[in-house]
Amino acid sequence: MNKKNAGMATQAIHGGEIKDQYGAQITPVYRNSTFHFESPKAIAEAMNPEEPGYVYSRVSNPTVRAFEQRIAILENAKGAIAFGSGSAAITAVILSLISGGEHAVYSQVLYDTSHHIFTQTLPRFKAETTVVDPSDLAAVEAAIQENTKMIYVETPANPTLSICDLKEIAKLAKKHGVLAVCDNTFASAYNTKPLDLGFDVVLESATKYVNGHGDGLGGFVCANDSVLLETIRREGLINYGGVMAPDIAFLLLRGLKTFPMRVKAHSENALALAKYFESHPKVEKVYYPGLPSHPGYEIAKKQMKTGGGMIVIEVAGGLEGASRFVTGFELASYAASLGDADTLVEHPATMTHARMTPEERQRAGIGEGMIRISVGLEDIEDIIEDFENALNRI
Ligand SMILES: *Cc1c(COP(=O)(O)O)cnc(C)c1O
Repeated sequence: MNKKNAGMATQAIHGGEIKDQYGAQITPVYRNSTFHFESPKAIAEAMNPEEPGYVYSRVSNPTVRAFEQRIAILENAKGAIAFGSGSAAITAVILSLISGGEHAVYSQVLYDTSHHIFTQTLPRFKAETTVVDPSDLAAVEAAIQENTKMIYVETPANPTLSICDLKEIAKLAKKHGVLAVCDNTFASAYNTKPLDLGFDVVLESATKYVNGHGDGLGGFVCANDSVLLETIRREGLINYGGVMAPDIAFLLLRGLKTFPMRVKAHSENALALAKYFESHPKVEKVYYPGLPSHPGYEIAKKQMKTGGGMIVIEVAGGLEGASRFVTGFELASYAASLGDADTLVEHPATMTHARMTPEERQRAGIGEGMIRISVGLEDIEDIIEDFENALNRI
């Protein structure tokens, strides 16, 4: 795609698409594990880091590279690196950038894998960590030490949808010479582009909104600094080996073609459902960044195009109420994951955040009656009817 300043729908359809010798309209799946050469000179050329060719599919693969190029365009990044899952991307970023003796500041509300790496893995390698509430900028700054290497946040955070101010955190990071890293899975590039707000690294689980159809795991990392990109690619991808399969890259390239219109429709349904929940007596609390009742609403308005497709509610009756709510949907599914066309409902305290201690859950604001909803693309009247029935079961 040569058109400069193309709109997001155009970028999502055409960005990075390969044109092969047969004129295939879309990027084919290159399943081959290796590539053959005529001479040592040809291999040397393919290994030139300035203009890399293809030697072996763990190092690079044409279908996977097409996905990386499309993602880099959508995130407005100099480069992207594809991984086999969001967790592989998280692990690669944190472990390739932080060494023993260094220090990281991490948000108290994080995806399970990231939380585990900051609380368990890094201490095992004698790296230090400090947990903060990233909406408290003074606390973030106070946590930065001489040996701090990274500040790591999510916004909206999983599962409480708490919002932190990416622009202000990026400023703090720059002031102290620290890398700012954001897991942008919940917002997705449709809503927020953390690199444009001054972040050094953005990563996502592509399993969610990028795929959008629940048929493949993937992850990616984007950055603008080529040394940073090269470090993460060499150490975190090629050595750790958590690569994306070409078949999955193909599905993700397909999912991306409808990405902007899907995420827009998810957000429209989510806003309507959140408003419905706000007036329901059995819903004790509604967390949706697109509603003025959300504490992060003003910041969300600045850094997100919409409120996103995720809603969190607290239902009456705690654990008991939550258990009745999730049993017996007609349309929604009681399942982990998010960003699919299908509406998915999960219970953080017993599913995605069950590995946290009760104290950690309490600090992160994860109550026992908390329900996380990934609002799907079904007709909103049908979605509301399904949740009306669920609330009547409590
Ligand atoms: C799902 C998710 C991940 C992990 O992604 P996988 O593809 O499941 O490994 C990381 N961060 C967030 C915010 C997620 O929702």
